[in-house]
Amino acid sequence: MLKFWRGLVRKTSGSTARVVILMYHRVLPDISDNPFRIAVTEVNFAAHMSHLAKNYPVISMDEFERQHLEGRLAEKKQVVISFDDGYADNFTYALPVLKNYNLPAIFYVATDYIGGNRLFWWDEVKRLVSNSESLQIGNNVYDLSSSHLKKLHLLNIVSWFRNLSVDERERMLSLMHHRDDVWLEDHLTDRPMAWHELDAMLIGGMLIGSHSCKHPSLGSISENDARHEVLESKRVLASRLNVPIKHFSYPYDEKEVTSGSVMPVPRKIVMEAGMKSAVTTVHGYNTTATDVFSLKRMYIDDWDQTLFIENINYAFE
Ligand SMILES: [Zn+2]
Repeated sequence: MLKFWRGLVRKTSGSTARVVILMYHRVLPDISDNPFRIAVTEVNFAAHMSHLAKNYPVISMDEFERQHLEGRLAEKKQVVISFDDGYADNFTYALPVLKNYNLPAIFYVATDYIGGNRLFWWDEVKRLVSNSESLQIGNNVYDLSSSHLKKLHLLNIVSWFRNLSVDERERMLSLMHHRDDVWLEDHLTDRPMAWHELDAMLIGGMLIGSHSCKHPSLGSISENDARHEVLESKRVLASRLNVPIKHFSYPYDEKEVTSGSVMPVPRKIVMEAGMKSAVTTVHGYNTTATDVFSLKRMYIDDWDQTLFIENINYAFE
């Protein structure tokens, strides 16, 4: 009877074993300036990590990919921690907490921004909005004369920029304001990581993955450009960091993803580039049956520990 019971448990856990991949972007001491809702406070992040360390096997993306390839997940519930974009706060605030709890994570970075003197383009738009009294964008004139109006219009303005090609976006941004190095002083909080910070991530036991070069939606640019975005960011990362780059995160993947799986072209490009896995922003858990190039993730908001526990429990259901 006991043997039978054990067998049953094994069978059940084999067929329902799940991996939830958490999707973070930023960790900061103060998130009062968080218009894109991508930041978590340092305090809440530590509370999340403390819960994970006590309650789940937290595995690296390499380990998940290995288990997935074997077709057998080692535990019924496992967690992977991931970060998108490559903000410097990942190094300053997230890394010490991860090291403290001895948890692995993967950082998917957009290589054109690493070690440069430019903000991520959406932060550049944020800066433009905060420094302007009004902006003419397309046929619309946005009144930005108060902080309330700036807040109100920022997301619309950012989504307008999102629909442009990379070249057009760059051209518009340089026409609209003077690019200089001032942001290095007044926008230090929003800066992308430097190369030596990525080196320190690796030394700290973290993984680095690719999030393209310029952060375009791969489904809305030409196939050749998309291939360049993936191959070039992989090449730059591998040569600067001296490690193989095996994992990818689709930037702005709503155009790549239809009904939960990635469109054939971006998926093929990522696979042919030699990646072993790719994550989307589609919500859900992963099993051995999930396409390893269309992995689902769980968006993490600035939840306290109670809300985090509720949400992560729900994500495994
Ligand atoms: Zn991103």
